[in-house]
Amino acid sequence: MTTEPFAPLGREMDTSRQTCTYSPGDQSASDCGVKATWHIAWDTSLENGLACDPHMAVARARFMFVDTHRVGPECAMPGTAWDFDNKRCIYPSDPALAETQAEEARPKVATA
Ligand SMILES: [Zn+2]
Ligand SMILES: [Zn+2]
Repeated sequence: MTTEPFAPLGREMDTSRQTCTYSPGDQSASDCGVKATWHIAWDTSLENGLACDPHMAVARARFMFVDTHRVGPECAMPGTAWDFDNKRCIYPSDPALAETQAEEARPKVATA
């Protein structure tokens, strides 16, 4: 099995229900759709995705990513930011926000 540096990403995903964004072939019919347990930042521009336990295992085995944390209520929601220090997502208006946090990009599907 080859290891790609980064996961190939497809279309933007509606993650309002926090479902896994694994989608082989980038077809909505192949969307995993299981409730996600992990949030993955694929790169430093915060391309990100959500994964269930089996697909997190796939991501760990095959792809590079910059950070991951357990899905919380803020994950992949509009207007949130990735908090690397505290391993979670936050709304930037949160007074606990430390220093500068990049705004989170819209989640995209992982296609392989
Ligand atoms: Zn999945
Ligand atoms: Zn998150």
